[in-house]
Amino acid sequence: VSHEFRTPLSVILSGAELLEAHAASLSETRRLELLTQIKASTNRMNEMVEQVLLLGRIESGTMKPNPQPVDVAAFCREIVDEVQTATQNRCEIELKPCDGTRSLDTTLMRSVLTNLLSNAVKYSKPGGIVILGVQDLGDLLRFLVVDEGIGIPKADQATIGNPFHRASNVGDIAGTGLGLTVVKRCVQLCGGEFSFWSEEGQGTHVSIFLRP
Ligand code: ATP
Ligand code: MG
Repeated sequence: VSHEFRTPLSVILSGAELLEAHAASLSETRRLELLTQIKASTNRMNEMVEQVLLLGRIESGTMKPNPQPVDVAAFCREIVDEVQTATQNRCEIELKPCDGTRSLDTTLMRSVLTNLLSNAVKYSKPGGIVILGVQDLGDLLRFLVVDEGIGIPKADQATIGNPFHRASNVGDIAGTGLGLTVVKRCVQLCGGEFSFWSEEGQGTHVSIFLRP
């Protein structure tokens, strides 16, 4: 984790130092490249800090669920578009929402769906298909995120979602191992349930069940 935080910070610092000391002798292309790296690393830092702060607020018990009526399809579309942009369209995210309005805590559910979709994209090959489905099961609402990515080895499945736990097959894919902890806590706070199916090399299906 300290590595995950230090990498963007050192990119920002070394980029800024280079620009400070050598701006005049660097080519326009190189200067833009450094600025792009600084911006990307700042965004990554921002995401990690937001995640840690949200977890802190949840753990301290000061955060209370605040469900409001929302158009499910429009809400999901917004999040899908945000993740597509944030991940530079690495995968196509297909949305299969249910119709109508449901009572949801949008702050908590945004965090849940953003984390699940980011994982689905991050642990899939470029060009892979990711699906976000929402099913009306009567008194339950099911959010389902499906990918055909690297999957989670059986040996890691019991501990996945514990803080800082990452599976053995992540290789050099970056991450802090906090996303699913945030997901589980948010779902718990909404009174919902979290479950997943995964097969190494085949993909992962995550389900969130809510009683809206
Ligand atoms: P971050 O805190 O930046 O999200 P992360 O993605 O590593 O880092 P989590 O989102 O908490 O952390 O996920 C924990 C671990 O579960 C991951 O490191 C990965 O091993 C595994 N994992 C989660 N989602 C998937 C997925 N869709 N496909 C394969 N592995 C996954
Ligand atoms: Mg993650």
